[in-house]
Amino acid sequence: MDDTRARRLLDDTLAELDATAGTVREENEEFRDEQIDSGGRMSQHPADYASDVVNRNERDLFLGDARQEREQVLAAQRRLDEGIYGICVDCGQLIDDDRLEVRPQAARCLPCEQRAEQRAGH
Ligand SMILES: [Zn+2]
Repeated sequence: MDDTRARRLLDDTLAELDATAGTVREENEEFRDEQIDSGGRMSQHPADYASDVVNRNERDLFLGDARQEREQVLAAQRRLDEGIYGICVDCGQLIDDDRLEVRPQAARCLPCEQRAEQRAGH
């Protein structure tokens, strides 16, 4: 994986994350507006209210993931600047190009990633 290609993939990933997170954030704001509009009218159908809350939690979860992904992309850009991009942070082996094409922000080779996920309890 050459640096130019890596940088472009990372830029694309970042733009994609920002676009997706932006959409979700707008939806969250609409949701807040709805709550304000209803001005203390708590007689809203309980089922509707419950499903709104569930959606909200899912969105917050999603935003959390997007933030984490973003951090990973920024970290990968730093590794690129430092000339250590594409090298597994755990074992020091080169990460497969195939893997980087799909996930340019990957910090670990696949076996190390799987081990790390197992440690994290996934
Ligand atoms: Zn590794």
